Amino acid sequence: MPNLIIGIFLILFTLEFVIEFILNELNIRQVRKSRTAQAVPEFFQDKISGDVYEQSVRYTLAKASFQRWSEVYGRIMIFLLLFGGILPLLDNLIIRILPQILSSSQITGVLFCLGVGVILSVASLPIDLYSTFGIESRFGFNKTTLPLYFLDKLKGLILGVLIGAPFLFVVLWLMQATGEYWWLWAFVFVTIFQFLMIIIFPTFIAPWFNRFEPLPSGELRDRIMALANQIGFKASGIFLMDGSKRSAHSNAYFTGIGKAKRIVLFDTLIEQMTIDQGLAVLAHEMGHYKMKHIRRMMVVQCAILIVGLYILSRLVNYEPLFTAFGLQPSNHAALVLFSLLSGPFTFYLGPLMNLLSRKHEYEADRFAAFTLGNGKPMEEALINLTVKNLSNLTPHRWYSAYHYSHPTPTERIGAIRQITTANFA
Ligand SMILES: [Zn+2]
Repeated sequence: MPNLIIGIFLILFTLEFVIEFILNELNIRQVRKSRTAQAVPEFFQDKISGDVYEQSVRYTLAKASFQRWSEVYGRIMIFLLLFGGILPLLDNLIIRILPQILSSSQITGVLFCLGVGVILSVASLPIDLYSTFGIESRFGFNKTTLPLYFLDKLKGLILGVLIGAPFLFVVLWLMQATGEYWWLWAFVFVTIFQFLMIIIFPTFIAPWFNRFEPLPSGELRDRIMALANQIGFKASGIFLMDGSKRSAHSNAYFTGIGKAKRIVLFDTLIEQMTIDQGLAVLAHEMGHYKMKHIRRMMVVQCAILIVGLYILSRLVNYEPLFTAFGLQPSNHAALVLFSLLSGPFTFYLGPLMNLLSRKHEYEADRFAAFTLGNGKPMEEALINLTVKNLSNLTPHRWYSAYHYSHPTPTERIGAIRQITTANFA
């Protein structure tokens, strides 16, 4: 039985790798083909210079060829963690060094899970360092320094322990104490926890990494206030963030629920855009708020969570699963194995979630076009964002369908034009 489990896992693990690899290669080929033909998409033709287009191609190719290596590396790391005897070693080590007085199954469990988390983050460090200080620096995007980079990592670790440890403790305790239906209890707890995090994150955690300020006064602010009023969004929830501290990439996002909801604009975005374009981006973000996209996304995530926990509850007493990886049966080993092994299974949910997210993006664009009374500023904002961020103008359609949480700029502009001709012409 253990061999069967390992066999199934390895087949799916390899399949996931092959799919990722093929998609990436298709994308690389598509970009090269477009470069040779100088096939700049219609909407961009007089908006991007030859030099900038060439730069965007190089940036895309640099990231894609690095992805080949990082994929292989990441998989070797997971493989070593699962089959290299690291998990049993860590499990035994914790039991041996933990003072008797602290050795409850929950505390051992929390330490085990955090230990695996630390191993995974350390293992991913070289990849992360190279993409930040190698690729991003080469194309002029990286603005972070090594001290700031490691300070961020340290803060992440502290947060991981402060928030992760109590969270894991409660989950492990529920698994042990609430009997056969522990997964329902765990579901209730995790859902409440996620809900709290959505409220806590923008107000307490994000400010630890960035400065958030009210928008500076001026025409943009006045027009944003008017727009917020018109839509019924509390203008006190609109913030400017010092994204330029770490990267020249520009962005905007909507986050939080209830009183904690916020629209965050990167300072880099404000610098790069005209007032009309900035307002369009804001109208788009308000569209996410108006159409309750965060809530809808949460409902889907809850559904996935409850199914996942149910499956975990079936596996937690299944001894061959543990034997297959040289571990003693325990709740914490089940949690870690489940999260390490589930990747090749849940991999297929990614494109489905992206499909939903892309639907939300179209809806928010549509909302922006209607609110502003025409689609032009949104369209220009998208072109501007794409060019300034050197985004791939010609992704392969399978690659984007699989990986993109946003429709491609060409798809979005196409959809906006359709609305425009149908409604405002
Ligand atoms: Zn959006």
